Amino acid sequence: MSDAPLHGKVALITGASSGIGQATATALARAGASVALAARRADRLHDLAQRMESVQRDTGQGSKVLTLPVDVTDEQAAAGAVTQTVEDLGRIDIVVNAAGLMLLGPIVDGDTEDWRRMMSTNVLGLMYVTHAAVPHLVEQGSGDVINISSVAGRTAKPGSGVYNASKWAVNAFSESLRQEVTTHGVRVTLIEPGAVNSELNDQITDDAARKKSQDSYASMRTLHAEDIAAAITYVVTQPPRVAINELLVRPTDQDVP
Ligand code: NDP
Repeated sequence: MSDAPLHGKVALITGASSGIGQATATALARAGASVALAARRADRLHDLAQRMESVQRDTGQGSKVLTLPVDVTDEQAAAGAVTQTVEDLGRIDIVVNAAGLMLLGPIVDGDTEDWRRMMSTNVLGLMYVTHAAVPHLVEQGSGDVINISSVAGRTAKPGSGVYNASKWAVNAFSESLRQEVTTHGVRVTLIEPGAVNSELNDQITDDAARKKSQDSYASMRTLHAEDIAAAITYVVTQPPRVAINELLVRPTDQDVP
């Protein structure tokens, strides 16, 4: 019998092809969970799965890895990822909604296509996956929904309006869900990272906004994706009576909100 804290648990992680999602998948697997890796780039997911399986062979840990190439903005595909996880890995205990975009830019003359992509990924995609997974967690009377918000979910700044709006939406949705499901033994946690070194800035389409954000990140010792993965591992390894509902994790050097 393994003494790994998440032995026998199954985690579905969106955004697993990069950054926080990838680091979290690795950390949860190291803690003994079987993991379902969801994102659009199938090649990245397969590479990660292969790396994880070779580590598992070396360490003798027996957790399974499933790759799910899905776009979470497609409701059917998002729900299908949950169904596939339950079918192939036998259950679902932990959902980490890490898929997201930070397409910074002003509201005035802003690119509304950027707004649609951000709201449909950060908000609707997270909602679709959660909507499909929560009935399984409620039925079994346990489980964790981990929603990656941001410091941007607590503040609002010029040049970040729609990203702020998307993360405030995640905060409101998470707190409402928490109140609905907590007495069913299901825990809901909001993770609010500050600046994390990842591919997030690369996606920004507004040249001035991208440079400003890259310069800001370069001015400090940013967090590593593994730092957020460690926070998530802490949350999901608490005893069932303990619900960590909100974690704000900034780089020590980050003075601006
Ligand atoms: P990355 O850009 O490194 O990772 C984003 C992930 O989201 C990728 O795996 C990407 O995979 C996936 N993704 C994007 N769109 C979709 C989609 N439609 N369907 C499925 N997957 C999708 O950034 P981070 O890891 O930094 O970001 C993860 C989360 O953390 C985001 O919600 C972000 O807002 C939040 N965050 C990040 C901070 C930072 O400083 N980095 C700070 C605060 C919060 P693929 O392209 O293969 O689909």
